[in-house]
Amino acid sequence: MTKRRWGTTATALGCSMLLFAAVPASATGDGAAGSGDPYFPLAGNQGYDVEHYDLALDFTPSTHTLVAQATITAEAVKDLRSFNLDYSGPAIQRIQVDGRPAAFRQDGQELTVTPDRKVRRGKDFKVTVWYAGQPQQLDDPTLGVYGWINTDDGAVALNQPDGARTWYPVNDDIRDKATYTYRITTPNGTTALANGEPVGKPVVRGDRTTVVWSMRKPMASYLSMVAIGKYNVTNGKVGKLPNITAYDPALPVTDADLHRLTAEASVWGKAEFGPYPFDSTGGILDRIGVHYALETQSRPVYDGTARESTIVHEIAHQWYGNSVTPKSWADIWLNEGFATYATWLWREEHGGATAQSVFDGLYATPAGDPFWNLKTGDPGRDEIFNGDAIYTRGAMTLHALRMKMGDQDFFKLLRDWADKYKYRSADSRDLRKLAENISGKDLRPLFEAWLYTAAKPGTP
Ligand SMILES: [Zn+2]
Repeated sequence: MTKRRWGTTATALGCSMLLFAAVPASATGDGAAGSGDPYFPLAGNQGYDVEHYDLALDFTPSTHTLVAQATITAEAVKDLRSFNLDYSGPAIQRIQVDGRPAAFRQDGQELTVTPDRKVRRGKDFKVTVWYAGQPQQLDDPTLGVYGWINTDDGAVALNQPDGARTWYPVNDDIRDKATYTYRITTPNGTTALANGEPVGKPVVRGDRTTVVWSMRKPMASYLSMVAIGKYNVTNGKVGKLPNITAYDPALPVTDADLHRLTAEASVWGKAEFGPYPFDSTGGILDRIGVHYALETQSRPVYDGTARESTIVHEIAHQWYGNSVTPKSWADIWLNEGFATYATWLWREEHGGATAQSVFDGLYATPAGDPFWNLKTGDPGRDEIFNGDAIYTRGAMTLHALRMKMGDQDFFKLLRDWADKYKYRSADSRDLRKLAENISGKDLRPLFEAWLYTAAKPGTP
């Protein structure tokens, strides 16, 4: 994510441990409600592993109405008499498990499904949920507006961190990646985009059109996205990689710069970080009113404007955040620190200020300044998008590492990190181990000072 205005709310120390809320027993099936994330304890569930989401979404912009059928293919990792999904979307009509009617109940964001026969450990099973109504966005005092967001001519879904449940039943565990198929039906003349690539040609039935999009590489649910509305779409290629961008023609700009800069940033990222991890790149520029951009997998979404540094930031996330994903939200600096540092590198390599001079300017911030008040590696649930602690100090942490390791080892680390944990999840400890293996240095003190101390670190 990139915020257009940094919401600097670094006024108090994070106390994330207080957020280890107990999961209400009433909401718990055999597959427990909640995956144990310290910041979002109810997001995600246990007892199964999702392999694929097939989302058939029929949306009418004029009434904001969604009629949907979600089919989730998962593997049971234990015997399940019942299991939970995260869901706070439109009213559910019915649910089937492996084609047989299943009982269900809802308690807050927890949807507990009880199949008529137990799902055995090790078995794949399919859950199909039919639902219809008007999805509602989430509006959090510190995280902002997210989830399913209606726009003047359609809707855009932006889920980070836990908004996927506003439009489909989901195992909203940051670690449970899956592939996706979207079958989106809208009134003729409306365009629908999503992550990944279009499959086949649009199918027109009467006054409605259905398009299919497919994300064939593993994706965390917070990165899933659909965009429905009036769009002008540009289909291009960067080498063999499709580059699909789109913009709302009601905007005063086209997507010419977005298309070109997305291509340039994707090529630059390949040279810098290693092979591009997905089967297409792109971007969507719309009027949404959320005041941030989000790195939705293979196709980031930009609100109102897409500046060069923002595009570089969101494209860098395709390697750092989307392909290599944190194991918990406490480690979000692994997304934002890397993406921010990518913009420093881009500037350094395009005739602008060096990363060292940017670092030096920031490091001059006095020790007593609130800039240093949070732990970058554990900021607390309400501070995961803190501009100072997560974005800027995350990038500074990487630069401190570069100073300690030397350029050769540091740039090897950037590539090896993207390669070793491709399509997987990793945490700060994994990064330290990899950096120590590459450099042969003990980096524990550096990580301790830069990530887990709410104070200005000593000179790296
Ligand atoms: Zn970001």
